[in-house]
Amino acid sequence: MAEIIERERKSSVLRRPALPCLSRYYTINLTAGCPCECRYCYAQSFQPNPGHGKVVFYTNTADLLRAELPRKRVKPALVYFSTACEPFMPYKPILDSLYKVMELLLDHGVYLLISTKSRIPGEFLQLFAGHPGRVHVQVGLTTICDDVRRLLEPKAAAVEERIAMLRDLISHGVRTEVRIDPLIPELTDTEESFGSLCTEISRSGAKQAVASYLFLRRANYGGLAVRYRDWSFLEMLKRLYTHKIEDYCGGTSIRIPASTYRQNKYERLKAIAGDHGLTLSLCGCKNPDLTFDCCHPALPTSTHQPEQEELFSSE
Ligand code: SF4
Repeated sequence: MAEIIERERKSSVLRRPALPCLSRYYTINLTAGCPCECRYCYAQSFQPNPGHGKVVFYTNTADLLRAELPRKRVKPALVYFSTACEPFMPYKPILDSLYKVMELLLDHGVYLLISTKSRIPGEFLQLFAGHPGRVHVQVGLTTICDDVRRLLEPKAAAVEERIAMLRDLISHGVRTEVRIDPLIPELTDTEESFGSLCTEISRSGAKQAVASYLFLRRANYGGLAVRYRDWSFLEMLKRLYTHKIEDYCGGTSIRIPASTYRQNKYERLKAIAGDHGLTLSLCGCKNPDLTFDCCHPALPTSTHQPEQEELFSSE
């Protein structure tokens, strides 16, 4: 586990993410920095990241939120956990604080969208089960080979734990899907790798998945110079990362595989997923040349309340 530095938050808790595709939601990051050390992560270059092996834990988040929520003229419809850290870090004070924050939001009728690569503790599952239809969890998983997982996401939960997590969430009635992101060409998008992933997802009871290829920008380039057996990231990169999107999600420039590669692959991956009873969606932000799909779920109609209309006016 990373070194935890406890600090009091000075600014407001509810923030609008900078990425335009998420900016209609609010987000809460309980920490600055993340212990998972995913090699493709660009969030760790954001300020105020404390640097490798360190995590700043904002200890007063729940108290600030309790004071902040009643002051909001328009109540948040959905809060996303989290844009720049793993929410369920295995450190009790962080989990205790996260529980208070999530409980507070759910008690205020706020919908939670959670993206995680960790095991979610049982008390959270009970909490979510008590608010049916209010919590949507995306479990990140791109491979069932734990050697590949360890190479790409060295300190995130093992494959087995994430599959178990899918089962636990589904058995507690939580809306659950798998986030197959980032797919890495010729490593995790092969028939064998993707097919066995779909087999395990399907066995877990999940029915939905969202996928997207790894995109590259300066901040996440260096850490990915890895090899696995006869596959080399740098060699693959030179051949396939030939397409540039200048206006990715509102401004930055990214590199992704060429349209023809992605189009052919996505069609094939969707077919494989379909053979396993899974519906696969794509991320439209990272594939504006291919789809308008969104990789974040719409709110269920039962949660559509008057104060949430503002959220959907742009849809
Ligand atoms: S879990 Fe998310 S925020 Fe943390 S290192 Fe991995 S990609 Fe980055």
